[in-house]
Amino acid sequence: MSRPKKNGYRPRRGKTKPKPKSTLPTVSVIPLGGVGEVGKNMLVIEYGDDIIVIDSGVKFPGEELLGIDLVIPDITYLVQNADKVRGIFLTHGHEDHIGGLPFTLKQIQVPVYGTRLTLGLVKNKLTEHGLIRDAKLHEITADDVVNVGAFQVEFFRVNHSIPDGIGIAVRTPAGLIVHSGDFKLDQTPVDDKVLEFSKLARYGDEGVMLFICDSTNVERPGYTPSERTVGDTFRSVFAKTDSRIIIATFASNVHRIQQVIDTAAEFNRKVAVVGRSMVTVVDVSQQLGYLNIPKGMLIEAEEIDRLPDNQVTIITTGSQGEPMAALTRMATNNHRQVAIRQGDTVIISATPIPGNEKLVSRTIDNLFRIGADVVYKEVANVHVSGHAAQQEIKLMLNFLRPKYVIPFHGEYRHQATFAKLGQTMGIPDEHILRVNIGERYEMNEEMVQMTGTVEAGSVMVDGIGVGDVGNIVLRDRHHLAQDGVVIAVVTIDKENGNVLAGPDLVSRGFVFVREAGDMLGEAKSRVKDALTGRNTGTTEWSVLKNLIRDTLNEFFYQKTKRRPIVLPIIMEI
Ligand SMILES: [Zn+2]
Ligand SMILES: [Zn+2]
Repeated sequence: MSRPKKNGYRPRRGKTKPKPKSTLPTVSVIPLGGVGEVGKNMLVIEYGDDIIVIDSGVKFPGEELLGIDLVIPDITYLVQNADKVRGIFLTHGHEDHIGGLPFTLKQIQVPVYGTRLTLGLVKNKLTEHGLIRDAKLHEITADDVVNVGAFQVEFFRVNHSIPDGIGIAVRTPAGLIVHSGDFKLDQTPVDDKVLEFSKLARYGDEGVMLFICDSTNVERPGYTPSERTVGDTFRSVFAKTDSRIIIATFASNVHRIQQVIDTAAEFNRKVAVVGRSMVTVVDVSQQLGYLNIPKGMLIEAEEIDRLPDNQVTIITTGSQGEPMAALTRMATNNHRQVAIRQGDTVIISATPIPGNEKLVSRTIDNLFRIGADVVYKEVANVHVSGHAAQQEIKLMLNFLRPKYVIPFHGEYRHQATFAKLGQTMGIPDEHILRVNIGERYEMNEEMVQMTGTVEAGSVMVDGIGVGDVGNIVLRDRHHLAQDGVVIAVVTIDKENGNVLAGPDLVSRGFVFVREAGDMLGEAKSRVKDALTGRNTGTTEWSVLKNLIRDTLNEFFYQKTKRRPIVLPIIMEI
């Protein structure tokens, strides 16, 4: 490869190898989530007695986290410094940026800043958690400037797959930090609000010390297509069919919903909104003026059957094949109001989030089996990403000309790819920081460097329990899922420890009892022998339990090469 070209990029050069001087003001930047991963975004910026936080998100658990509902950042550091936290600034209303807010506000009561739609979605969430009364919510626009503690916080409008997204510029005593939020560059956005380049250029002239940049699509060359291109596809699908049209997409993609409504209006169709989160988002967005729905356009799900097929559009959740979501239920005839039938056209206007591919493909199969015509990403342009591809990221870098960059919203491979991209523009490799959760980066007006770590990590939310499922519980769930469980019940004489009844063995998920009767019979007699053959007449439960467990573990492994969880239960008479 030839030497990296500068391509017009002019990084601000510091003095060579400056040593950190105690006289220079130092600002700390600490990611508590959202780096080296996609999800649970949370970034701490600290100077002296002042802390501000950008975003408070959740992550949806992968398959390895059995039964876990949500994962949120460990905010021990913020709790320990609660009196310093001046506010949480939200970039936009996606769950990976606002979903953790109820859990955070339960631990630290701090003001929250966000744009209108973002706060609209937050209000819903806080109401559900009973937190709305005490919440200090401050609505901001992209043109506001907020002074908090030592920081001056400004905002710039970005394009993304939800309206009202912003990036954040923070003036600190050690220089300017710019956070991109989740962004793409859409020259023809559905709401006509283009990313605010002029502000970026201004920040670039002012000098950006640290740029925290969305790296989700850094592997993709070129530009992410405009959201409007999806509307063109909708139009061609609508033009071709007289059947009912069912469209599944992300509830939060208000622009997409707007395009469905516009297309339906064009083709004289009504729209029914189905699915709890979809109904909520449509309500909030319409009330706040982010969705423009002609009068009489929306119908209730009950009215669908009263209209001719060619006047029906249904917009719904379930684009990820989630088992409980509306589309999945409609496809398996399990939905209270709507069943997909032969001849329906179903548009899946999304791509599967990594990990959901199988669920989505199962739903598509089910739909084809019923005889529906299914339109999905692989066969038509029914979805575009909300994140910037390489050319958009480059443009951002050229506007801002940052000295240091932290790629966020991506795995390690995104950080590494970002570094390569940065190098082609003359940003030295060591200025693109591959940051891990909990690392403290100290920034002065000359350099940014890692100086230590704070307590950080993941907290699992299971049902209403926060953080009460740890690694041991998870290990048990894995174990149960893999090898099942055997419960051994024995009744002993409390005087001398003699076995009075049992052992009885109950197993679940281990072996098919009807075929393994012999083996379980043998297991019983092994346990009985072990209990009667022991040399002490102890009635100490832990000794007996260990004896039962060891005997069965050894026997089952020898016979099946599996290790079910063995739970001995001892009753004394
Ligand atoms: Zn987002
Ligand atoms: Zn995000």
